[in-house]
Amino acid sequence: MHPSTLMMGYGYEPRLSEGALKPPIFLTSTYAFESAADGKRFFEGITGKRPGGSEGLVYGRFNGPNQEILEDRLAQWERAEEALSFSSGMSAIGTALMAHVQPGDVIVHSAPLYAATEKMIDAVFGKFGVKWVDFPAHASPAEIEETIERAKGLGRVSVIYLESPANPTNDLVDIEAVSALRDRMFADAEHRPVIMCDNTFLGPCFQAPTQNGADMSVYSLTKYVGGHSDLVAGAVVGTRDALAPILALRNTLGTITDPNTAWMLLRSLETVQLRMEKAESNARAVATFLKDHPKVERVSWLGFLDPSSSQGEIFKRHCSGAGSTFSVIVKGGEPEAFRLLDNLKTVKLAVSLGGTESLASHPAAMTHLSVPEARRAELGIGDNLVRVSIGVEHEDDLVADFEQALKAV
Ligand SMILES: *Cc1c(COP(=O)(O)O)cnc(C)c1O
Repeated sequence: MHPSTLMMGYGYEPRLSEGALKPPIFLTSTYAFESAADGKRFFEGITGKRPGGSEGLVYGRFNGPNQEILEDRLAQWERAEEALSFSSGMSAIGTALMAHVQPGDVIVHSAPLYAATEKMIDAVFGKFGVKWVDFPAHASPAEIEETIERAKGLGRVSVIYLESPANPTNDLVDIEAVSALRDRMFADAEHRPVIMCDNTFLGPCFQAPTQNGADMSVYSLTKYVGGHSDLVAGAVVGTRDALAPILALRNTLGTITDPNTAWMLLRSLETVQLRMEKAESNARAVATFLKDHPKVERVSWLGFLDPSSSQGEIFKRHCSGAGSTFSVIVKGGEPEAFRLLDNLKTVKLAVSLGGTESLASHPAAMTHLSVPEARRAELGIGDNLVRVSIGVEHEDDLVADFEQALKAV
């Protein structure tokens, strides 16, 4: 069955909860064992003495029914073996990296990354002697190979970390090429790096990096999956082997999501396909209007990629939809961009993305303010760039809002 069908009931048995059609929220910190032998067996799974995780419910820092149903359903979208839920996108990324990286290792990553991810790799992992080397998201396989070669000279490469599409440029990474390079360049190596890909922007509906050669996808569920701008959560989806050390570390740290948030995400998952498809068709209408507007220089919506360009070719291989987050590059600079933002009415001025409501923000002055100016220029994050996330309102009202706001520019 299709994931959109499975979201209504997969992984939940009403018979076990008094016949409740929907899963109750299990607000308990600990679970009663039927026997001491059960308790011992469950703990063997939790502590990793026996592979495959816990066979039963133990304690709120390790697992819970709401989280387990959520994880079973999240894995379905990428047809992956397993998923793990986290208290935020950043706790998912942090736990996954910490589980796979040792002091002195090298992380190879695409650029730009979500600002907090870049900061974590540089400042937090840097404290433990971890080095990093990056390549631009749109790099050719030859450039990526050159970057990995350079990284190999610096130490043990343990993680290749990707974000595609990149924020806010929407540049796509050739995940299949990265995977082929990893397999070839580390065929005889003692250690094969794992490939992680942040799939927040197009997942779970329009892209499945684990089907293109990534060992795991990481998500901020706060965005499209949660979808209503009312929760913070994250996930890692992928192979059982790649996720095993991450699960063990999550058990130690307690970076698991809470039962209430997991329950809200179950509700969100029932409509994620509907919402993402509607947002995408709205984005097409808005981007089409903006593209030819005399005050707009360029619109970076993925749906406009030339299929014969290298980016368009990656899009065809990796993506089944263009999503609804893109950049509008207005003619002028910060004053023109700010005037557009200050005059939008239906579209709210806020960071974040993927909610039912449309949002607009200014990366250079907000989310990417801490990025040095020279690096911002290198990454194509100019003062005239406005990032928009289109929601599920009526498309005519969104187009009308941009039309009246641009009159003030
Ligand atoms: C928001 C976001 C994150 C971080 O997620 P939180 O849920 O805010 O911790 C990571 N990556 C991308 C691409 C994001 O948009």
